[in-house]
This record gives sequence, structure tokens and C-alpha cells, in this order.
Amino acid sequence: MARKRSSTSQRAVRTVVQKLESLHAAGVTHLPKPPPAPASPPTAAGGSVDAAKPSPAEASPQPAPAEDRAAALAKLARRVAACTRCAELARTRTQTVFGTGNPHARLMFIGEAPGADEDRQGEPFVGAAGQLLTDIIVKGMKLRREDVYICNVLRCRPPGNRTPTPQEAANCREYLDGQIAIVRPEFICCLGAVAAQNLLGSTESIGRLRGRVQEYQGIRVICTYHPSYLLRTPSAKRDTWEDIQQLMSLMGLEGPKK
Ligand code: SF4
Repeated sequence: MARKRSSTSQRAVRTVVQKLESLHAAGVTHLPKPPPAPASPPTAAGGSVDAAKPSPAEASPQPAPAEDRAAALAKLARRVAACTRCAELARTRTQTVFGTGNPHARLMFIGEAPGADEDRQGEPFVGAAGQLLTDIIVKGMKLRREDVYICNVLRCRPPGNRTPTPQEAANCREYLDGQIAIVRPEFICCLGAVAAQNLLGSTESIGRLRGRVQEYQGIRVICTYHPSYLLRTPSAKRDTWEDIQQLMSLMGLEGPKK
């Protein structure tokens, strides 16, 4: 029993150390004081997240000034621009595609990897799939693209748009975790199986991961189909719209008029 407790606490210490290393790699050198504990227990809202856990807003530290987050993201982006961990991708990319959006976004979209258009322009989701994502954000959610933060599992384009290898995803994970640590979104929407499986450490299909609220580091996570898949399979748009409506409900955003 004592040995079990000891290994549990060792795992907890390892998790904290990994988190601190991610923050440090992201350029975060100090953490603000957490807010004082509430006088009464918080009320959990919606989803299948364990009601005993604090809500993500309560679990998050006080937001840093916008310029701090923007500066931390810019510093991390400079490291990414020089990264050659994946030799093939570093050799074939036009440029790295770091991420874009509001450093204080409540919602972060995570996709798979840059495609040809993104590689050319240096911004995620700018091709046809990007236009569909913009439609989801603007026409569906009634938000602006600049209200959210958008990035990918990989920051370099795999040749021929092939699926990222597990090693490439592992190489780039520090940067993804760095962006999450800096932006500290309340919600993450994983676009496609590669994003969902990598973020959540799952082997389940996107069809099984969608439709329920997941959690990553206290952040509520919704998984849905990648816009590229929706372009090839328009019949999946209905499921995606259901996922987006679930996300909007969690975020307290007004849904479409019935
Ligand atoms: S994909 Fe990520 S880890 Fe790999 S070379 Fe590009 S920036 Fe570096």
C-alpha cells in the first residue's frame, strides 16, 4: 500500500516537472499567484467532466497581461523557426507554421499539420479547409477568427501532406504544450483524429472520441472531424455541427434560433 502511494506521488512529481519544463521552454519564467479560494464550493456546469474537479477557469492562474503572452508566443515562435528536430520536414518546409490568433483566446483549435497553402503563407488553416474552419467560427459560432487561437500538432508540412509520424508529433509536442501553457484556453477543439489522439494520448477513432467532453490539463476538450475530411465527406458536416453546438453550449454562446 505504502509502495503504491509512493509510486503515485512519484508520478505526480514527474507530471509537475514535465509541466514546468514545458512552461520554461515556452519562455514562462514565473507564474502569477493563484486567486484566493472561493468561499463556497464551485458549481460544475455541463458535459461529462467530473463534477468534483474545479472548473477550468478556477484551475487556471490569473491571466497574464496580453503583451506578456504575445511576447512569450513570439519567443517560442522564434525557437520553432530554427527547429530541425524532424530532419526531413526541416529540409522540405518553406517555413514553419507556428499558430495564430488571440493570446487570450478562450478557445483553441488544434489541427494536424500545415498543408501546401499553409507552408507557403506561414499561417495555419488558410486553404480550402481553412475557409471551412473560418465559416464554422464566423457563421456557425458567431465569433471572429481573431477571437480564437489556431495551431497544429506539427509546425512543419509533411511532404505530400502525409500523416505525421508518432516521432514527429513527439518532437513537436513541447511547442504545442508551450502554446497551450501560454494561451491557457478554457476550451480546446481538436480537428481530426491526429489532433485528438495526440493531445489526449488515445488510440480511439475520431468517430468514438467526438460527442463527449474530454479533459486535458483542466481544459475541456471537444473533438470533431477535420475540415479537410468534411470537404471530402460533406455528410459528416451534420455531426460536426452537433459537436460545435455542444462546444458553444459549454462556452455559454448563443446557439442558432430554433
Ligand atoms: S515539426 Fe515541429 S519538431 Fe519537427 S522540425 Fe518542425 S517545428 Fe521542429
